[in-house]
Amino acid sequence: MKKCCCMLLCAVLLAGCTSTSAPATDGTTSPEMTPSTAGIYQAGTYTATADGNNGPLTVQVTFSTSAIEQVEVTEQSETESIASEALESIPAAIVEAQSTEVDTVSGATVTSNAILSAVNDCIEQAGGTVESESAFAQGEDVSTQIVVVGGGLAGLSAALSAANQGSEVILVEKQGQVGGSALLTGAGIYATETDVVPASVETQDEMYEHILDMIDDGGTLDHVDTDRIRHLVDESDDIIAWLESLGMEFSAGSVGILNAKEHYHSLADGSSGPGQVAIMEEAAKEAGVQILLNTQCVALLDDNGTVTGITVEDSNANTTYNINAQAVILAAGGYAQNEEMMRRYMPASLYSTTLANIGATGEVIDQALAVGASLYPYQFMLACGTSTDVSIGLNMAAATGAFVNSNGRRFCNEHRLWQIDAEMVNNADLAPYYVIYDSTHISQENVAALDAAVADHNPYVIKADTLEELARKADLKDVEGFVQDLENYSSVAGTDQLDPDFGVPGDRVVAVTDGPFYAVIVYPINAGTIGGIRTNISGEVLDAEDNAIAGLYAAGEISNGDLYDNGYISGTSVLNCYVAGRDAGNSAAAYVSGN
Ligand SMILES: Cc1cc2nc3c(=O)[nH]c(=O)nc-3n(C[C@H](O)[C@H](O)[C@H](O)COP(=O)(O)OP(=O)(O)OC[C@H]3O[C@@H](n4cnc5c(N)ncnc54)[C@H](O)[C@@H]3O)c2cc1C
Repeated sequence: MKKCCCMLLCAVLLAGCTSTSAPATDGTTSPEMTPSTAGIYQAGTYTATADGNNGPLTVQVTFSTSAIEQVEVTEQSETESIASEALESIPAAIVEAQSTEVDTVSGATVTSNAILSAVNDCIEQAGGTVESESAFAQGEDVSTQIVVVGGGLAGLSAALSAANQGSEVILVEKQGQVGGSALLTGAGIYATETDVVPASVETQDEMYEHILDMIDDGGTLDHVDTDRIRHLVDESDDIIAWLESLGMEFSAGSVGILNAKEHYHSLADGSSGPGQVAIMEEAAKEAGVQILLNTQCVALLDDNGTVTGITVEDSNANTTYNINAQAVILAAGGYAQNEEMMRRYMPASLYSTTLANIGATGEVIDQALAVGASLYPYQFMLACGTSTDVSIGLNMAAATGAFVNSNGRRFCNEHRLWQIDAEMVNNADLAPYYVIYDSTHISQENVAALDAAVADHNPYVIKADTLEELARKADLKDVEGFVQDLENYSSVAGTDQLDPDFGVPGDRVVAVTDGPFYAVIVYPINAGTIGGIRTNISGEVLDAEDNAIAGLYAAGEISNGDLYDNGYISGTSVLNCYVAGRDAGNSAAAYVSGN
């Protein structure tokens, strides 16, 4: 048994606690039901039900006028291996203490709190007084060892890991459900040397080199912590094994990135990101994590440089209160949904649209800065594709043309989809950009779609008989350079050579040689942000002088700035949620236990 603020923790459950009608008594006790002016309780037997981990949990409590005589759990569906100690010891402890202010059982917090909550209900039915009841609902301050802000994959991973180390954990999520961006995605995980992707497909050394190759595209590794990338790689097989131990089953696949192997782990049953979230949520609850939905962190509590908890607003109960904690883990994601922050940190992003979840509004980053955290110097989009502002019925994935900027010059390897947009955002004058097609090297369906758009006076599609005329119509500044770049690009089409300017393999080059020609104006789409607040490899949040801020940890998209440079590579973001979440959870648990 572990000492904790059980009365405070159980209080939130009271809201969902249903009592059966009046006392469920046998006839022999009815005379004693008359209120006694001398007694604490109206003697009798009462029942109440509260939400346990796996469903309703019902208790029956017998009172004399002066005492709690007996507490019995009469119905429950908890997992025996986890809950048996709580089911046995807590009723006895309540009778002994004559109070529900008793310790909960570590690892069975939800079950413990359900018993306490239902007994509190019975005490009230019997006319007794419950001290500290309904702290969450009434907006009273509560305490725990670790509070996690944000219920995406990083927060769930951190909370579960900390609880598995024996810590008392509350997770707050401002939306009505956990999951964050993972609810919107296939959540493919890049990992290798697992039971699904063996070393014969790709070794971890090859994975490391592939990530470095993709993330520094067109840039350097100046912004990257290669130790941290190596750590991601080294942990990747263990993360898959861990997730499998929680019940996930994976199959391997690839995505259409240049040089990508079959190294993406996706849930074999096709349940994608939501499937991963459901398993992580269940595991966290089973481990005793208390999840508070519709509860938004609005400030971090700071005591002379040590973070001591958070202030939250419960949008359902309309209350504001503090959660005092020995450690706080920030896992609130990025800020792609916050226009002001996007303009503040990456002005060119006004050209982009986002697919990130609506909770990605970044206020927790500002809250962290207010207690001394520092930002990664390099903030950019987690880019994931292109779109036009209007639908033109063009299957662009199947029709990768040559990409040029507003000068008319090629600027990237068109087959590194995730890199193109990141670079563009770092060079504002490149966005929007143009995809150039001819009329014989793409499908006739796509030619028809482009012609229809032109006939419809769609401003995003420009058509001309020659490349020179196209450049002039599209207002591309360097006409000669434009023509020369496209000649170079087309010259290797169908060969085993690389294009001389950006290295697109000849078998992937879609030649631009036969008029009429088309230019389509496109914009980047992002799936989130890269940057956020600085942490070290253990998940401790760093101030501007590289000192760890006592009691403050972070994981996931809120702190991914030293993993990427000019480019992103798919599958590493979810991997990072699990790896960094687990690291932060373990570090915070060690901190609160004094190890
Ligand atoms: C369409 C799409 C496809 C993707 N596909 C892949 C993929 O295949 N592989 C891959 O690796 N990555 C992929 N990603 C990226 C990846 O899904 C995300 O980077 C990752 O899920 C982020 O997880 P997170 O836990 O760090 O943050 P989030 O998922 O953003 O979770 C943060 C949570 O914190 C909550 N929160 C925010 N502020 C507060 C507050 N003040 N108080 C309380 N709660 C708060 C939010 O509501 C949210 O639920 C994709 C992203 C998208 C959008």
